[in-house]
Amino acid sequence: MARVYNFSAGPAVLPEPVLQQASEEMLDWHGCGMSVMEMSHRGPEFIAIHAEAERDLRELLSIPGNYKVLFLQGGAAAQFAMIPLNLLRGKTSADYVSTGQWSKKAIADAKKYCKVNVAASSEDKNFSYIPDQARWQLDPDAAYVHITSNETIGGLEFQWTPDTGAVPLVDDASSHILSRPIDVSRYGLIYAGAQKNIGPAGLTIVIVRDDLLGHAATTTPSVFDYRVQADNDSMYNTPPTYAIYIAGLVFKWLKDLGGISKMEQTNIAKANLLYDYFDQTEFYRSPVAKEDRSRMNIPFTLRSDELDAAFLKGAEQNGLTQLKGHRSVGGMRASIYNAMPVEGVRALLQYMREFESKHG
Ligand code: PMP
Repeated sequence: MARVYNFSAGPAVLPEPVLQQASEEMLDWHGCGMSVMEMSHRGPEFIAIHAEAERDLRELLSIPGNYKVLFLQGGAAAQFAMIPLNLLRGKTSADYVSTGQWSKKAIADAKKYCKVNVAASSEDKNFSYIPDQARWQLDPDAAYVHITSNETIGGLEFQWTPDTGAVPLVDDASSHILSRPIDVSRYGLIYAGAQKNIGPAGLTIVIVRDDLLGHAATTTPSVFDYRVQADNDSMYNTPPTYAIYIAGLVFKWLKDLGGISKMEQTNIAKANLLYDYFDQTEFYRSPVAKEDRSRMNIPFTLRSDELDAAFLKGAEQNGLTQLKGHRSVGGMRASIYNAMPVEGVRALLQYMREFESKHG
């Protein structure tokens, strides 16, 4: 068996020990004679798996007691609609900060439900930076303020938490959740699709403050009502059971590594390997303002576009896959989530140096 170094933006690399354990438990989970995939979500085995996953996530992120954790379906994109449906609370507008393609998608869906005030945008410079909060035009009557704290395509990451006063801060943390500690109490709601740092696609995690539940618009489908899902322990409908099980194994893996502060140190070291190199060479370029560079998604371009195909072909031959940038921006992108070992980043760096010395 040969595993590659997979730099996909998602679905993405998972920790090898997690995949190994899942394969050992595939046919018979803990002596119960069936796979987790075959279990009733109402049975004692799955209820235990679900409860332990939630406990471990709460511990990893130090989630305060007045927040609910929901394990939902529909991807992060379903949240683009669920957020206005649930959080407008009788108000008519919401503030959005536009920092890239995912913010834009969230804004487009929110516009179907309310007036959207784009409080700040970096579209003027091709989404290459995060606007300073001093320049945001926040509306004190907004129902909430929405940010995308890591833009997966553009490779921008908030290195700070905005202060939105009494207006709840809502964050799409899909592509960097669990990569660094966060102070959950600063947010009204945090959401994330699982397929980057949590587990398989099909699971979406929502962490929401209690007082924001119970205000859904009357037209909200029941499965999309946070209050209904919270009252039913995320089992109003059948949850994505196998994805929750794998997420639980990923949480254990993170705890065994020493938790999120430890993970953050590794992530800083991994990202610096690449960014330090970009800063020394003219051959590769990072399009993102230095202070806003993502530790998870690292886009870069070569000195000339003609070299892209040769770069990607050579990378594949070296077992370095999925490095092509998103179709909307081109170039390359290395996604180096929690589960990407530092050896993978070193192998990429070595390949990049060799490629430069041949073509530079
Ligand atoms: N937000 C961000 C930041 C993302 O990276 C993605 C997916 N790459 C989404 C939302 C949409 O997630 P999904 O496809 O799970 O709905």
